[in-house]
Amino acid sequence: MQLDAAIGALAGWGEPAYRRAQVRTAVTRDLVASWDGVSTLSKTLRARLQNTVPFADLVSEDTQRSSDGTVKSRFRTHDGFPLETVLMQHGERRTVCVSSQSGCALACAFCATGSMGLGRNLNAGEIFEQLLWAAREAKKDGARISNVVLMGMGEPFHNYDEVLGFCRLANDADGYGLGARSIAISTAGWIPGIDRLAKEPIQVKLAVSLHGPNDEIRGSLMPVNRRYPVAEVMEACQRYRDETRRRIFIEYLLLEGVNDAPDQANELSSLLHRTAPGGFHVNLIVYNPTGSDYRASGPDAIGLFKGILERRGIDHSLRQSRGRDIDAACGQLTVRGVRERRAELRRARSS
Ligand code: SAH
Repeated sequence: MQLDAAIGALAGWGEPAYRRAQVRTAVTRDLVASWDGVSTLSKTLRARLQNTVPFADLVSEDTQRSSDGTVKSRFRTHDGFPLETVLMQHGERRTVCVSSQSGCALACAFCATGSMGLGRNLNAGEIFEQLLWAAREAKKDGARISNVVLMGMGEPFHNYDEVLGFCRLANDADGYGLGARSIAISTAGWIPGIDRLAKEPIQVKLAVSLHGPNDEIRGSLMPVNRRYPVAEVMEACQRYRDETRRRIFIEYLLLEGVNDAPDQANELSSLLHRTAPGGFHVNLIVYNPTGSDYRASGPDAIGLFKGILERRGIDHSLRQSRGRDIDAACGQLTVRGVRERRAELRRARSS
C-alpha cells in the first residue's frame, strides 16, 4: 500500500485536498481492502486510482491461527519475495510483529530467519500494509492494534529510512494514529542505526538484542558481534540515553548451558549498571525451537537468573511466547524461497 503515491496521484490530477483526506481516512481508519471500497470517491476516480497505484503490494498466501489466538500470515511481494507478519493478543491488547526485510543478512545462530539469507529490504508501504492487514484482522473482534514491534523478519537498521518512514505512517495523527511509544524497533545492535534513531524527533522505543554479556558468548551466537562488539554496543546505548533520556530494552534469549548461568546474570547486571544505572529493562526470552542445536533454559535456571537481576536491581520481565504451535513465535519466522527468488532474478537479468 503506497498511500503517499496514491495521495500524490490525486494531487497531480488536481483533486481537492478533501479527496486526499477521504482516501487517507478510508485506508487507515475504515480499513477498506480495495480502491473500490473507498465509497466516498466516484466510480471513475476509484478506477483511475486502481489503474495508477495498485491497492495492495503484498499477496497473502497463507494464514494460520494458533490455539492462543495468534494469527500469522505469509505474504509475497509483487516481485516474489516472502515475508511473514504475526498478530498477537493479550486480553484487550493487540500487538503486531512486522517484518522489515524478506529474510535477513545477520545469520544469528539461534534464529530461523537468519538461515534464509537476505531477500531484499521492504519499503515503508510494504511494512505499513502488514499493519493494515493486522488492523483488519483485529477489527473482526472489534479491537484495535495497540502496539507494533519491528521484530519479524529482518534487521530494521539495515533498512533504516524505510523503517522510519513506516513509523511515521503508523504514527500519523490523520492516519492510523498509533502513539510513537507504542512502536518498538528491535536491532541486533547495528550501531549506526542506534545513533541515527537517537536524533529522530519521533519517540519510538528501542530494543537491543544482546543475548550475551561478553564478546565470547555473544560472538558465538551473533556474527554481527565481530563488527559491533559488546563494549561498542553499550557505548552506543549510552549515547542514545544521553540524547533521549529514554529507557532501552535489552533482549536476552536464555539458552541452556550457553548464557544462562548465575555468573552471566551477574556479568549482565554489572554491564548494564556500568553503562547507565536504571537505564535498561531486560526482556528475558524463552528460546523457541528452530531446528538449531540450542535448547531452552529450564525453569530452575530461569528462576535463578531472574533472582539475580532482581537482587542487582535490574528491571526485567520474562517474555511469554505466543504462537509456537504455528511457528509464529520469535525466531521461528522462515519461508523457503528467498535464495531461489534471488537466483531467478539474477538469471532473468543476465539473459
Ligand atoms: N533483527 C532484529 C529483529 C528481529 S528478531 C533483532 O535482532 O533484534 C526479534 C527478537 O527475537 C530478537 O531479540 C531475537 O534475538 C529473538 N529471537 C530470534 N530467534 C529466537 C528464537 N529461536 N527464540 C526466541 N527468540 C528469538
